Amino acid sequence: MNSNILEVRDLRVNYHTRHGAVRAVNGVSFDLHVGERLGLVGESGSGKSTAALALMRLIRPPGKIDGGQVLLDGLSLLELSDERMRQIRLAEIAMVSQGAMNSLNPVTRVRRQIEDALRDHDVKMQTRERAEWIGELLQRVGLPRTAADLFPHELSGGMKQRACIAIAICLKPKVIIADEPTSALDVVVQHQVMETLETLRADLGASVILIGHDMGLMAQAVDRLGVMYAGDLVEIGDIDELFSEPLHPYTRLLMASLPSLEQKEAARGIPGLMPSLLNKPTGCPFHPRCPDAFERCKVEEPKLRAVGISAVGTSAVGTNRNVACHLHHPTEGISSGSVPFSREAA
Ligand code: SF4
Repeated sequence: MNSNILEVRDLRVNYHTRHGAVRAVNGVSFDLHVGERLGLVGESGSGKSTAALALMRLIRPPGKIDGGQVLLDGLSLLELSDERMRQIRLAEIAMVSQGAMNSLNPVTRVRRQIEDALRDHDVKMQTRERAEWIGELLQRVGLPRTAADLFPHELSGGMKQRACIAIAICLKPKVIIADEPTSALDVVVQHQVMETLETLRADLGASVILIGHDMGLMAQAVDRLGVMYAGDLVEIGDIDELFSEPLHPYTRLLMASLPSLEQKEAARGIPGLMPSLLNKPTGCPFHPRCPDAFERCKVEEPKLRAVGISAVGTSAVGTNRNVACHLHHPTEGISSGSVPFSREAA
């Protein structure tokens, strides 16, 4: 039995502008295991949200999926007709996007918006059965059943986001993509919404891809983490291993930029800026910002490869760890530049 619900291979998304192709997702590959929570993290412009939209086949011109493969439970999504993909969306793979709450129709009651989603997918239900399912959905996302009869403007931000999650799960998808689902919410509501997502994932037996830039949130919410930079996946691994021994210098800097309780001075950002995707640096795209860069980094682009090392210091590192950095060639060992990091500090 295949333990992967989703397999992404060499996914390429370009934005075709009059200045040339902007390589927003540059040959990204990863698997999502059944029931797993996978995080994708990176700064703005890293390609994580574009990758998520590509999985849903929601890239709009001038963007275009220019290559790769996305297998959902063995079904090749990039080869489906538009109509078949429309049916698959929501039913098999659903997305709660950034600011999804703003996509609710303000003049249509919540009940009607969920009914529309069911009707669009030809779900046949008796009126009573449908009303019961909508009530149950709302309860599952932490809303009262009576919220069905409210208009979106009568809901708080957190309630609107919950209503969006109710729509996303109304057909019990196998994969839920949550793209910065809590970005517009205050910290307390963020925590509640994340708890709701986790409860739903467990109830539905779904797998989740969580997109974000907050390493602290990722530490609490995912099983595995992928780190993206300038359209590339530069590191991916088990969340505990990755936090105890970040290998890619960018991952280390992302972690170092997290505030901690012990730290007296202000948290430091990562020096420099993400490069233009129209004009990426030669070699490793991170080399102009990388504190560990050496000559080879300027001319040779590192590939994402498994790190075949059994133990480092006190923490074991398995072969599930992949990193795109010349410091970590499988036969070379792990550089002394890797600094242990406490996950609790997040
Ligand atoms: Fe830094 Fe070189 Fe590794 Fe790129 S390949 S992250 S520049 S050490």
